[in-house]
Order: sequence, then C-alpha cells, then structure tokens
Amino acid sequence: MPKNVPLSAAQPLSAPQIHHIARCGECDALVSVQELARGEHAECPRCHNDLQSKDRWSLKRCSIIALALLILMPFALNYPLLSVNLIGVSIDASIWGGVWKMATEGYPYSAFLIFLCAVFMPISFAILVILLQLAKLMRQQPRNLLMALDYIKPWVMFDVYLVALGVTAFKVRDYASLSFDIYLIAFLATALLTTLLFAKINPKELWNDFYPQHTKLAQISAENPPHFCVNCHYTFDRPVLDYKNIPRCPRCHQAPSRSPEISLQQTWAALLAGIVMIFPANFYPISYISMNNISTGDTLFSGVVSFVEMGSYFVAFVVFFASIFVPISKIGVMLYLLFSIHFNWQHSIKWQMRLFHIVHFVGRWSMLDLFVLALMMSLVTRGQIINFSVGPAAIYFGLSVFLTMIATTTFDSRLLWKIYDKPKSN
Ligand SMILES: [Zn+2]
Ligand SMILES: [Zn+2]
Repeated sequence: MPKNVPLSAAQPLSAPQIHHIARCGECDALVSVQELARGEHAECPRCHNDLQSKDRWSLKRCSIIALALLILMPFALNYPLLSVNLIGVSIDASIWGGVWKMATEGYPYSAFLIFLCAVFMPISFAILVILLQLAKLMRQQPRNLLMALDYIKPWVMFDVYLVALGVTAFKVRDYASLSFDIYLIAFLATALLTTLLFAKINPKELWNDFYPQHTKLAQISAENPPHFCVNCHYTFDRPVLDYKNIPRCPRCHQAPSRSPEISLQQTWAALLAGIVMIFPANFYPISYISMNNISTGDTLFSGVVSFVEMGSYFVAFVVFFASIFVPISKIGVMLYLLFSIHFNWQHSIKWQMRLFHIVHFVGRWSMLDLFVLALMMSLVTRGQIINFSVGPAAIYFGLSVFLTMIATTTFDSRLLWKIYDKPKSN
C-alpha cells in the first residue's frame, strides 16, 4: 500500500533517515525526502505535489508494453476500424485514412494536428520508452531521450481518439448502418495499453533513475540556497557553467529557471493567441454535410443542438463538454490565475491549485471534436449523394486547443504560492 512520507524542512539536521533535499516544483517549499521503499511515495507537506514515488512499474516492464504497442500500432492506425453501409456501398474508416483524406481535400493543417496527436506522438512515445530501456542496459545517461519524453507525453492522445470513435459511431448511425471491423480490437488494445503505460511511467522518476538526486542538507545554507531546475525537477547546490559562463542545470544542461516575468509573458502570449482563435472556431462552420447537392454547415454549437434534437443526450453532453465548455472555461481559469498573480489576489491557494490541476488535466480532451471530424470525413462520402466535409473552423479550433495547452504548461504555479506566502495586508 502506498504510504505518504511528508517531511518538513524542519527535520533535525542529524536525522539519519533523510536521503536528500528537494525543492517542490509546484510551491517552491524545501522538503527533506526519506529513502523510500517500494510502493511508497513522498509528497510535499504544503501542496501535496508528488516529489518522489516508488509506486510504479520498472522501465523493463514499460518497455515490453511499448514494444507490444509498436507491434499493434500499424494495425490500429492503418486498418479499418468502422465501416458503414451507405446507399449500398460499404465504406470503412481508419485513423490514417481520415488524416489522409483531410489533408488531400484542402485541410492539410487540421490534418497535421491530428497526425501529430494520433499518429506521430504515440509512435514516438513508444519508441522513446524502448530506447530508454536500451540506454539503461548499455549504462548510458540518456539526457536527450528523457527531455524528449517530457515534451511528448502530454500530446499522446490515443485515449481521446477512443472516445472520438464512440462519438463518431453515434453520429454516423443517422446516415447509414454501421458495423465494427475486427481491427478495432487492435485499436482498443493499443488505446488501453497506452493508457496503462501513461499511468505507470513517470518521467520525473526516470530522471531520478538515471541521475539520482543527492543534494544533502549539509551542502546548503542560507547563503547557498538550493537551486531548482524547472525542466527536469532537479534540486542541486551548484549550477554548472557552460562555455559562455551561463549557469546550467547539472542534470539536463538547460537554463535551470526562467525569470517570473518571462514565464508570465510566455503564458500570456500563448493564452491570448488561444483566445483570438476561439472566436473563429465558434462562429465559422466546423463541418459541412451535403445531401443531394444541398450543403449545410454546422458550427460547434449547432452540432451539439442537433445531437439533442436526435435524442442522443449523452453524446450531446460529451461533445458540448469537450468542445465548448472545456476550452472556454479553461481560458477563464487561466485568466483568473494570471490576474491573481498580477493583482496579488490572496484567494484560497487550495482552490487555485485545484483549478490549475483540472485545466491541466482536461485540456487535451478538447481535441475530441477534431478526431471525430476526421473519422466522419472518411466514413460519410458518396460523391454528390451524401458527403461530409470539414469546415474552416476546424483549424482555428485545433490551434486554440494547442495554444491553451501550451499556456498551462508554461504557467509557473510557484508565482501563486509567492503571493500566498506574502504577509496578508488588511
Ligand atoms: Zn509543494
Ligand atoms: Zn535540469
């Protein structure tokens, strides 16, 4: 059973069980971490962020799953998952087919976004896990592989694609009779294994496996406070200097921290661009369906309304939640958090952090609508009789999701804690 080992920095200096000192990446607290046994994890006593965890699978087991994923992926990506019987002709849809059709019919940028999240990132993720295991066997220190894993992980969206497949099945029922293909099993297995790998692999811990944390209490003092690297979550007593004499993290060789102004500017830039994109994403049609040469456009909102009219309340709710509620409330929450920092609002830090974690978690689910569009486009296509096509809003919608995801990853929650730590003014 996992056991929490919260320890405060006020531990006696001579306590023998202290293994190393770590700075919390979320609230900047200085925490002494014990040597952990299997299944235990150490969390920050102040913000409950996981500092270290032994509750995970070995890299070897993860790499076996990754290998299974690589074997299954060609079947999951390239072979038909669904087929419909449309006016006497059977048409099937695969992930790759959807992306290709979108790209060749005038929407290469939207197709590229889907290609990234549903094809390129999942494959790269599996390959990286296998390469890390090889590096471990060859006793290498794979700094660049670890950096790449950190970057890629949030963009692997196979689980989102799985839900998109379900929504598509509901949507297509109106136009044609639907059947599932045998390769759907390969896709389901791939989606489940990816989700499992996600839950059981922890990039932060992989860094610790290859480059253990070892800053001791004795190495730090008030004059020499420990540094913290925002890229690899490493706490260290002294940065290394590169050839230009710029301080670097000894573990990942990146600049250990950005100044608060720069990180705020990055978040603002990504968020404002995301806000600009959300307007065309909602006002232009996101899809067109043409029947007997009459073409009708659907915006995000009218798409939800048509689900309600069809009586599919659950699907209407899923689509409304993923493509309207989440993107807009995410922007609202990020604006609130940024204003809290600029205007020094001392609201409940517990709620602010909870909101931040929620937007971080749900952000990727907004890609759902774009995946549904790609699948619909490859399924419902019979020339002039019935045809489904993507609308101009798709690319704006995808960009808005991407940009707001970037805004949440560049947001530095330690700035919120800094305000919380300030003495309260009356
Ligand atoms: Zn913390
Ligand atoms: Zn680092």
